[in-house]
Amino acid sequence: MSRKLSSVLLAFVALATCLSSPASAQIPIPPTSAEDRALAQSILKEIIEINTTDTPRGNVTTATAAMRKRLLDAGFAPRDVQLLGPDPRKQNLVVRIHAEGSPKEKPVLFLCHMDVVEALRSDWTTDPFQLVEKDGYFYGRGTQDMKDGDAALVAIFLRLHREGYKPKRDLILALTADEEGGRFNGARWLVEHHRELVDAAFVINPDAGGVELVHGRAVIATVEATEKVYSDFQVTALNRGGHSSLPRPDNAIYELTAALDKLAAYTFPFELNQVTRAYFTRLADQETGQTAADMHAILATPPDRSAAARLSAEPSFNSNFRTTCVATRLNAGHANNALPQTAQANVNCRIFPGHSPEEIRQQLVSIFADNNLTVKYVSDSGEVFDMAPERKAIEPPAPIPEVFEPLTRLTNALWPGTPVTPVMENGASDSIYFAQAGIPSYGFSGIALERDDDRAHGRDERLPIDSYFKSLDFFYSFAKALGGE
Ligand SMILES: [Zn+2]
Repeated sequence: MSRKLSSVLLAFVALATCLSSPASAQIPIPPTSAEDRALAQSILKEIIEINTTDTPRGNVTTATAAMRKRLLDAGFAPRDVQLLGPDPRKQNLVVRIHAEGSPKEKPVLFLCHMDVVEALRSDWTTDPFQLVEKDGYFYGRGTQDMKDGDAALVAIFLRLHREGYKPKRDLILALTADEEGGRFNGARWLVEHHRELVDAAFVINPDAGGVELVHGRAVIATVEATEKVYSDFQVTALNRGGHSSLPRPDNAIYELTAALDKLAAYTFPFELNQVTRAYFTRLADQETGQTAADMHAILATPPDRSAAARLSAEPSFNSNFRTTCVATRLNAGHANNALPQTAQANVNCRIFPGHSPEEIRQQLVSIFADNNLTVKYVSDSGEVFDMAPERKAIEPPAPIPEVFEPLTRLTNALWPGTPVTPVMENGASDSIYFAQAGIPSYGFSGIALERDDDRAHGRDERLPIDSYFKSLDFFYSFAKALGGE
């Protein structure tokens, strides 16, 4: 019954949305033609099948150079498709569509990373480096994160160029390296060394945000407006070791696993900020039953602890409530018949805005409460330091109407009745480098995905085919709305 009621309410919301914004009802979104869909699919296939992992088998340049060739073949001027970067295997591509005359407004930058996380054939049902069409999905490494966005934006830049589109401000597309790891982060390098190529009024980063589906129903559209800080910590237990035939109570492996058990049992404190508060306020209106009641209860002052605990059972909610730290790797011992001299774990933390990595490092030390253990900070490039940075996550900037107005209008046209809300990203994206350079960044993928089907970095990564094609409809109209008709 509550389901029926909620669909009635949704229908009403959809109607109200149409009535309240006649513009969205009157301006239909032109659907992408079969030819442009086929082109976007062929681009997606091409880049999925180029391994862009940060491994000896991976090469980002192969993919960015292939995109450059497509753009040159379509008539883009060489100076508007620049391939550049500090490493021959990690070249970034920066594409520009020029404004008519001399624009008054600074450009809009679409920021898309081209690298992907390693995927092993033996872990997957399909070959991760083949685009496989199955059961209404595209399977392949990067179908969610984020070669879908790379391919969609390349297809849209090609289409805008073919149609002779002249924006009122420059539109820039950057396809970059080393977002997922590696020492040659393209976004950071471009901001620091070629600001003139990527300088913009704001950044649209399709690496985050998007439309969340629950059983096929769009419940919310999220736009990343702030993000957690990613930090790795190396936890080490040392021991004098010895012969395994003469075991003693002191043992590096036991000591380390005892510490990790304490971490497993520990929950960081519940927190909300302006962005996550807005997110759960919107979401509570879309949910029903206990979940809706719990969401209202955590928004109260003081927040209801048992409601927070119930919602925390859902990992995507939990990550919005607190800093999280989890053991992700173990390495211990040196021989089957020797007592271990070293036991080491990597603990990966996603730190809530307002806290620094050093603060969390010290918190880990007190959680472990073992003076024989060391807790060190591991930088993005893999260097190990005794102390972690004191830098805190950026404060959420005020949302810009020139981004949120068209984004909301187009979202309502494509996914009627879906509220749009700024959110905190629980991973980490390249938006942070632009935010630090004073360029606000908004994450929105244009992709509709089931909430529990987030397979980014995981096995059998997949993307609903209809979601991919709908993202083309979205980004074409969004690019033109931002660029001016
Ligand atoms: Zn990504």
